Amino acid sequence: MSSSPSPIIVWFRQDFRIKDNPALTAAAESGNPVIPVYILDNKTPGQWAPGAASRWWLHHSLASLGKDLRKLGSRLILLQGKAQESLDALIGETGAGGVYWNRCYEPFALKRDKAIKADLRDRDLDVRSFNANLLAEPWTVKNKSGDPFRVFSAYWRTVRADLDPGHPLPAPEALERPSDWPASFSLEDLDLLPTQPNWADGFEPVWTPGEQGAYERLIAFFDCGAKHYDRGRDRPDKPYTSGLSPHLHHGEISPRQLFAAIQAVREEIGNKNAEKFLSEIGWREFSYSLLYHFPGFPEDNYQDKFDAFPWQNSANAMRAWQRGQTGYPIVDAGMRELWSTGWMHNRVRMITASFLIKHLMIDWREGEKWFWDTLVDADLANNSAGWQWVAGSGADASPYFRIFNPITQGEKFDPDGVYVRKWVPEIADLPDKYLNRPWEADSETLTKAGITLGETYPEPIVDHSAARERALAAFQDLKDAA
Ligand code: FAD
Repeated sequence: MSSSPSPIIVWFRQDFRIKDNPALTAAAESGNPVIPVYILDNKTPGQWAPGAASRWWLHHSLASLGKDLRKLGSRLILLQGKAQESLDALIGETGAGGVYWNRCYEPFALKRDKAIKADLRDRDLDVRSFNANLLAEPWTVKNKSGDPFRVFSAYWRTVRADLDPGHPLPAPEALERPSDWPASFSLEDLDLLPTQPNWADGFEPVWTPGEQGAYERLIAFFDCGAKHYDRGRDRPDKPYTSGLSPHLHHGEISPRQLFAAIQAVREEIGNKNAEKFLSEIGWREFSYSLLYHFPGFPEDNYQDKFDAFPWQNSANAMRAWQRGQTGYPIVDAGMRELWSTGWMHNRVRMITASFLIKHLMIDWREGEKWFWDTLVDADLANNSAGWQWVAGSGADASPYFRIFNPITQGEKFDPDGVYVRKWVPEIADLPDKYLNRPWEADSETLTKAGITLGETYPEPIVDHSAARERALAAFQDLKDAA
């Protein structure tokens, strides 16, 4: 008598796609019934649980994945709780004989997954994990002395030289169903969306979470931004970057798919643009490498001399920064773009982060937490690497004396004021000359533009030159003491 084959659980985590999904493909190829599951693991300790904006994305991404799985004759089971306990219960309920997943690299996830793998293998389950989310996993890239790279250029030269991620996998044609589906929460039960107030209103016109949305964004990028990428990626007033970061973070598109897609359009978009784009994907890889080799990266200064930095941490200044009310238009524009859309242009991330750390002398970890909660692409590796880079405390970091000037940065990278006027409409009628320095405008110009400084738009909360001197002195003290 032949018994039916036991199902394989495919545990989705940050790989919400059907195509180029090695765990799903392996399960489909086994011929066994497949049980796709997502576990909202809000119990495993040590994690940075998804922030509010990420939860909004997660809701829609899970909805999209569920639909795509149904097209393959399958469905997405939703569970919540501690991952290990949820998996155990699911194995008990379904008699599953295997669990497959694609690897995550956050320190808490690595620890959790290692323990789960060992435990399930002890119980003779077929456990397999795959690389789906990186071009080069962190432990595969070492310098000549066998140590992890600390400098991006050397890291990327090494990775790029041997880069051959192979062809992306096609979607499975169908997935075998189990004889009975296990119990599942509904998406609404996971309670991922904001309710009162619904502050995510502004996200919907901008984003389409899910695999199809990622693909459409890629095509739009190739049609427009990609051809300008090398020279134009620093312009927040232009649609020259891909906007793929939330899709990449949630695994709705893979770096291997991006690599293949870039090769296919290389001639059309130009070699320089293609290589620059790949090198930004390289920064993502490098950030993952840093996080893997230095698991304290999101919480601790990589350079411990920064532990003695005299942070000021003023609640009022923090609030002004969060709300885009600092009186520096490019900073305020960025912070409002973030609040409204869950995303901010990279150049403006650097400007706003530098302003918080250096002009306001607020601990980079406070900014990191705000970004974590408000970004739809909040990513532990990229976010901590970005903040430590700007602070100067990171591995391959911006030097401490580099203090972004929020006035000239605005003038240089948003030369026609399109970005600032969009996000700070109350000063839109100022002439370009004063747009990034409204306090220098004479009273007639201000009146004509309908502005009363301190009432309709704030006076600068710190004086740029004084703040710069204060930060430089503090950083110099730190250097002298080291
Ligand atoms: P593109 O220019 O189109 O780049 C393509 C992809 O490459 C991005 O989607 C992203 O995955 C990767 N990438 C690009 N630039 C960087 C970079 N500097 N570092 C690492 N990867 C990069 N990125 C996040 O994905 N999540 C974060 O939480 C995050 N926090 C940041 C915080 C600070 C303070 C700073 C300075 C940067 C942060 N970044 C973060 C990096 C970068 O700003 C975003 O990845 C980028 O703006 C996303 O826009 P895009 O998809 O249009 O990028």
